Amino acid sequence: MRTLVPLLVAAMAASNIAHAGTLAFVGAKVYPAPDAAPVEHATVLIRDGVITAVVGRDLRVPKDATVMNVDGKVIVAGFWNSHVHLLQPPYRGAATQPAAALSEALESNFTQWGFTTVFDIASLPGDALALRARIERGEVTGPQILTVDAPFFPEGGTPIYVHDLLESLKVPTFEVKDVDEAVARATRQLDAGADGVKLFAGAIVGGPIGVLPMKLPIAHAVVGEAHKRGKPAFAHPSNLAGLQIAIDSGVDVLAHTTPNIGPWPDALTQSLVSHRMALMPTLALIEQEAGADQLPEELKAKMLAAASQQLKSFADAGGQVLFGTDCGYTAVYDPLLEYRYMAAAGLDWRAILASLTTAPSARFGQAARKGRIAAGLDADLVVLQGDPAQDVTALDRVEMTVRAGRVIHRAPR
Ligand SMILES: [Zn+2]
Repeated sequence: MRTLVPLLVAAMAASNIAHAGTLAFVGAKVYPAPDAAPVEHATVLIRDGVITAVVGRDLRVPKDATVMNVDGKVIVAGFWNSHVHLLQPPYRGAATQPAAALSEALESNFTQWGFTTVFDIASLPGDALALRARIERGEVTGPQILTVDAPFFPEGGTPIYVHDLLESLKVPTFEVKDVDEAVARATRQLDAGADGVKLFAGAIVGGPIGVLPMKLPIAHAVVGEAHKRGKPAFAHPSNLAGLQIAIDSGVDVLAHTTPNIGPWPDALTQSLVSHRMALMPTLALIEQEAGADQLPEELKAKMLAAASQQLKSFADAGGQVLFGTDCGYTAVYDPLLEYRYMAAAGLDWRAILASLTTAPSARFGQAARKGRIAAGLDADLVVLQGDPAQDVTALDRVEMTVRAGRVIHRAPR
């Protein structure tokens, strides 16, 4: 009987966010998956938050269904942003922030762009878990939230760009000085419900050191705690030494490309792919960072070219690309520029859609429930105003975002 309790809790949680009843989206062109042919003039039927049918124009819509006319629109599966930070107000102290402020921020930051799942890969201890609990209780409206909770920094390796923030907030340090300390914290966070771990394999500390690598035994121990529970490890590589630590410690997902080390040699790309690592390109971040640092145009262009080459060669070698923007660290939540840069690097719209849907669902163990539009899957959908097959920036023109059969965002008229 003991095993029933978590199942019941899970079922109750799902029913709080799911739309009860039958919903029919009628008339759109539906892409069931990035590699599937579209279904023209389709009807997508949803019952109690789950997709029950996706068919062409002849379907009889049940009498009790609420009909949404989406003629001329395009429907794809709900998007994942696998690199965000729930770090800014009102997410700080999410347990006690007003529900309306949280719902409003989540819509403005994520669901207005079609994100029905976000992976927070470092925030202040407990905030993302508290926010998730409030969303799952139905108190706050928002996307599915996965989180690594607090990150792991090498000793003396608090990154230069968060140093002042962490000090001003008086949070305990995220640096770990030895294996025991690292294992103890990883255990505590994962047991409290974190969905993975994030380590700064190379931490940007500036000054004469530049990038400080994490000691391999510490990285290995943190990754091991996640893997013991079947959960992923993310790494911030920063440079070649950081990449090597990430490879050697068994990291699953690189949170960024490494624009400052130039193009990746084939052997490096092959090594990343053969270790079954996933990559988040974060190309638009280069533009934002370079702007903030007032780097010369020429250097910025060189870094963007290097990161684009890294992305393209990794994808061509069969590597798994995940969409992520690092928003919450940057103030840019609109993913448009990232779509543009990924396309300019040579990824076609299907590859970009896969990075938003099927790839993260598979990587994070949710392929049976999310990432595609098919009977039996969660009704997480994005209704687009245009067709990404014609123009990739259509991914950014969202008419409606649907999570578990509930419309949680609608474009203003
Ligand atoms: Zn980040």
